[in-house]
Amino acid sequence: MLWRGRRQSDNIEDERSDSGGGGGLGGGGQFRVPIGGRTGGGGSILLVILVVLAGWYFGFDPSQILGGGDGGLLPGGGDQITETQDNGNAPANDEMKQFVATVLADTEDTWTGIFKSQGLTYEDPKLVLFSGQVRSACGFASAAAGPFYCPGDHKVYLDMTFFQQLDQQFGASGEFARAYVVAHEVGHHVQNLTGIMGKFNQMRQGMSEADANQLSVRIELQADCFAGVWAHFTQQKGILEQGDIESALNAAKQIGDDTLQKKMQGYVVPESFNHGTSQQRQTWLARGFKSGKLSDCNTMSGPI
Ligand SMILES: [Zn+2]
Repeated sequence: MLWRGRRQSDNIEDERSDSGGGGGLGGGGQFRVPIGGRTGGGGSILLVILVVLAGWYFGFDPSQILGGGDGGLLPGGGDQITETQDNGNAPANDEMKQFVATVLADTEDTWTGIFKSQGLTYEDPKLVLFSGQVRSACGFASAAAGPFYCPGDHKVYLDMTFFQQLDQQFGASGEFARAYVVAHEVGHHVQNLTGIMGKFNQMRQGMSEADANQLSVRIELQADCFAGVWAHFTQQKGILEQGDIESALNAAKQIGDDTLQKKMQGYVVPESFNHGTSQQRQTWLARGFKSGKLSDCNTMSGPI
């Protein structure tokens, strides 16, 4: 990706030297909070409008949509990845920070444009760089859980050492694999803004774990598709390089539930899948990338 010299986002919060004390938002130790966010009072009217618009936009019935929350980029979270040595402050990461800030800026431009074309206003998310552990509105999180989005504070949380794991542990190398990770989390922010995520969190209350997992897969695949939509517009700007998309698709493959489970435990438990198989993740990422249309990212109904 030809990212150098392009705009970098101001929405990066660098908490890498805070040893997890940053954020300061309290939280109750609940990693997955039902989204409420800013939707109190007048905001709820906005939410209703957004849900209806989203329904129209994505081509599904708003009364039946299943929205979603994010438990991180990876299934399960927390116990599947061994933490690597913390070198979040290493100079080498300064360039990586610039890269992340540039990718984030590009997602801001893309989503602002898409929202605007629908008469909506995109609100930029913040991206918190942390080192080892962090406190968010969704509770306390360890880097071992992988990058995640917290709907409660509208922030993406990323420990950039994850990029090394992606490369070395998961076999997903390349800049654009990393860009895909950021774009996937931003995809959850889009789901949050459009009310899909809140709806999902409501619906999964009281569901069996297996059903909630199935719902989660649909939400995760949509975030992959949204990442693909972003990549589509990035390609139109002429800043993708040969191999970029392949690199993102490979990342989607390597972090598919089945591939990860095979690697981690030697067998797969389909009922426990909550992010989608390698095949599904690649398919939806490719789908968003191909058309750049949100209407092609309707993972909420039909086969996935
Ligand atoms: Zn996700």
